[in-house]
Amino acid sequence: MADDADVIIVGAGLAGLVAAAELAEAGKKIIIVDQEPEQSLGGQAFWSFGGLFLVDSPEQRRMRIRDSHDLALEDWLGTAAFDRPEDFWPRKWAEAYVGFAAGEKRSWLIQRGLKFFPVVGWAERGGGNAIGHGNSVPRFHITWGTGPGVLDPFVQRVREAQKRGLISFKFRHRVDELTRTGATVDGVRGDILQPSTAERGHKSSREISGDFELRAQAVIVASGGIGANHQLVRENWPQRLGAAPKRMITGVPDHVDGRMLAITERAGGSIINRDRMWHYVEGIKNWAPIWTDHAIRILPGPSSLWLDARGKRLPVPLYPGFDTLGTLSHIMSTGFDYSWFILTKKIIQKEFALSGSEQNPDLTGKSWRQVLGRATSGIPGPVKAFMEKGEDFIVEADLPALVARMNALAGGEALLEVAQVEREIRARDRQLDNPFSKDMQITALRGARAYLGDRLIRTAKPHKMLDPANGPLIAVRLNILTRKTLGGLQTDLDSRVLGADGQPVAGLYAVGEAAGFGGGGVHGYAALEGTFLGGCIFSGRSAGRAAAASVA
Ligand SMILES: Cc1cc2nc3c(=O)[nH]c(=O)nc-3n(C[C@H](O)[C@H](O)[C@H](O)COP(=O)(O)OP(=O)(O)OC[C@H]3O[C@@H](n4cnc5c(N)ncnc54)[C@H](O)[C@@H]3O)c2cc1C
Repeated sequence: MADDADVIIVGAGLAGLVAAAELAEAGKKIIIVDQEPEQSLGGQAFWSFGGLFLVDSPEQRRMRIRDSHDLALEDWLGTAAFDRPEDFWPRKWAEAYVGFAAGEKRSWLIQRGLKFFPVVGWAERGGGNAIGHGNSVPRFHITWGTGPGVLDPFVQRVREAQKRGLISFKFRHRVDELTRTGATVDGVRGDILQPSTAERGHKSSREISGDFELRAQAVIVASGGIGANHQLVRENWPQRLGAAPKRMITGVPDHVDGRMLAITERAGGSIINRDRMWHYVEGIKNWAPIWTDHAIRILPGPSSLWLDARGKRLPVPLYPGFDTLGTLSHIMSTGFDYSWFILTKKIIQKEFALSGSEQNPDLTGKSWRQVLGRATSGIPGPVKAFMEKGEDFIVEADLPALVARMNALAGGEALLEVAQVEREIRARDRQLDNPFSKDMQITALRGARAYLGDRLIRTAKPHKMLDPANGPLIAVRLNILTRKTLGGLQTDLDSRVLGADGQPVAGLYAVGEAAGFGGGGVHGYAALEGTFLGGCIFSGRSAGRAAAASVA
């Protein structure tokens, strides 16, 4: 049987598109197969905030941040905490990726048309020690145009190659099997799904209208992670994070179903680090959902007071935006699967950002006028909409009324006592009377404001929460939301999938989230943020180049 193309790519998300663009540049013929309709081209990246991890960039230097490759590598390795024999390739990927982020990444992306917002964000500030988890300095560079701004250059290149006859798409084609001749993967087989008019990101039907088979010299799996498949998330949930939450909401579209991982395993690929995941603890139910159980993550500044379900403050240093998985494991140890932020109007105005391209119309729409309006016009529109319509938000002028509504929202037995909550807030407020404090969060806030970017747009001037002049008071119920898969198909630095014997499976490559963003888990146990899109780009590029070199 003749080949239909040189290379087949399963998945038209960012990683698949980057690989396709590289292959087309090398003059290869590619078929991109995706189970979703054409309107969902780009997968998750379209919805993303477009935050990219860069090291020692001009944006950082302009914000007076001193960063270096060595500091970033120490942060990465302290965060990843690689400790398994199968971390051999993930560690190699981590070293290569930090080198990319400190070197060629920015200029390569700028050449392709990306631009960055000038204020660099400080995500995952860490567990409190210089060695260990967290970013020593801000490194989260927001792409101008957010997720669509990251995707556009690659979509454009792929569309141009499509016009030249090098790339063709097969939408609504769901791969169910990787086919082999001998030990070499050389094709895909699956079902053709009924045409769908579902809007971008909405769930599309799985009704079958036929089947298909395609052949090529190589197949690249670019199918994403498992975040929308709660059953798989629960099956692989690590004990070290406590029991899996009874209730989780979903931070990714329905197509992030994880099916393709087992399919690739059946063709000889080895999956490692299944128990490593990156789920968030600041999830709110979207009042205008796009996908099933649609959750939005709050990207919080550091000032909100974080209380558990019984009103006890979370321990040091579990402050907003410091240690995602440390906080998740603590919350699970409380016996509840939610927690609370208490904050003021002044804090929400400056510190609440919502992750997602659609939640940031100013940055996504590349409107400087609207972006500058953020600094002057009070609470951002999308945050205001959540305050008014979101089921997890409560706004009240006084604490007893706030606590009463928090109890009502949680349902069941009233777990929160006004006196307990008031004691936590009042004690915290009292720590502001001196320019120094034993309260580590207050000290952290003052430290954060020494960074220009935080002082400008991210960290409110420390103030007393119970002073009505700073009010009204706001409570937000924070749910656990599923998002990223840190483990995946084991790959070498050419993105070739390795089998259980550690040798490449001939003809088979994996990229993006399906490959744990490189190697089967470039992040190890935890992430520094903004590293996922970059992992798709880096691994997609390496697969594209290696596959182009390998096919005749
Ligand atoms: C709201 C949101 C905000 C985010 N913000 C950031 C951020 O700021 N910074 C950052 O670094 N990361 C961020 N991320 C994460 C990042 O966007 C994703 O990890 C990344 O886009 C994954 O890309 P991918 O190409 O690997 O997979 P996907 O985008 O999931 O694409 C996989 C594609 O494969 C298709 N597919 C799957 N199985 C099959 C099959 N069997 N047959 C055919 N097709 C199949 C799917 O339909 C899909 O189109 C965010 C994610 C979300 C959802």
